[in-house]
Amino acid sequence: MIYLDNSATTKVDEQVLESMLPWMTQDYGNASSTHTFGRKARVAVESAREEIASLIGAHPAEILFTSGGTESNNTVLKSCVHESALADTIITSSTEHHAILYPVEQLQQSGIKTVVLPVNSNGNVLIEMLHQHNTQRSLLSIMHANNETGVMNNLTEIRSVIPDAYFHTDAVQSFGKVPISVSGLGVDFASFSAHKIHGPKGVGALFIRKGIDFKSHQQGGGQERNRRAGTEAVALIVGFQTAARIAYANLNAISEHTGSLTTLMRKLLLEFIPNIRINTPDYNTLPNILNISFMDAEYLDGDAILQIMDMKGVACSNGSACVSGTMQPSHVLSAMGLPDTEAKAGVRFSVSKFTTENEIRVAVQILASIIDSMR
Ligand code: PLP
Repeated sequence: MIYLDNSATTKVDEQVLESMLPWMTQDYGNASSTHTFGRKARVAVESAREEIASLIGAHPAEILFTSGGTESNNTVLKSCVHESALADTIITSSTEHHAILYPVEQLQQSGIKTVVLPVNSNGNVLIEMLHQHNTQRSLLSIMHANNETGVMNNLTEIRSVIPDAYFHTDAVQSFGKVPISVSGLGVDFASFSAHKIHGPKGVGALFIRKGIDFKSHQQGGGQERNRRAGTEAVALIVGFQTAARIAYANLNAISEHTGSLTTLMRKLLLEFIPNIRINTPDYNTLPNILNISFMDAEYLDGDAILQIMDMKGVACSNGSACVSGTMQPSHVLSAMGLPDTEAKAGVRFSVSKFTTENEIRVAVQILASIIDSMR
């Protein structure tokens, strides 16, 4: 099998796994316990907090461990509006992950004012639209990089337009792929996840800028400075730390590798498949994602393309969802202005440090033969 779905999740790095095992088998203490086992676990959790904070230019006290990107996103949105009462308006964009769009929808149904900003044909948020809104007592949530196309938003510029709003970014896809400085980006909150960078599933973090009176919606023990009750998942947190360390220590080499693979793939796809549209621009994007669609998509079945690719040994995906037996277009491609037929039949390839050039060549050949026979 050729795995080209690394934006969905990644293979756990051997070194990550090794670093996690002792925290499940020998040093399995609860980090809140005061005995030797507990103190050892506490040291491990705090060391992970320090290292992850330093990688994004944050203070350790600004890092809250969560179960992943979904929890971090939901926590910010709901706490800012409810428990912390920092904002009464939420401004977001049309291409956010559903872990933002669905909670925003729910908040809107409960009477909270929400604004969903459009994007341009590249998938970048239309920053000028922000001028139309009063951003005082607002929470702005704009993703750093899009999970379907890899397109990156210019957060620093967005911050300059909204100096008075709280600013959150979903940095799940960009963390470990590009340098991140929370102060450089000007964000107050940021969401991260370990499993997109060869770490374990079920752990992530939320950056909360110091000085913000942030209250948790999750009650129980006083863990994470009373901001997220629940026993810390020590082994997962250590795995997250190791994955983040490896990603940032090898950032240039990995992005050169993944970038050269997506560049090659872009070239081969254009060469071998007529009427193809590349939805990932070749600038201001993550190095590892390539999203394509087909201009004559009315003759192609997006779901079947992925299924046949899988049968022929290539795992890739798209942003379309099957609702009540019918395929829905990708909300990201639709927001970028693609017709519904085309937005239903996109294909997302996402590579990793483990992907090889030969795998890219084989995957393109397989896709070309599927499209050819469907046409
Ligand atoms: N945000 C983005 C942009 C993502 O791509 C994902 C995962 O696909 C998430 C949030 C959810 O993260 P997690 O799987 O850690 O809950």
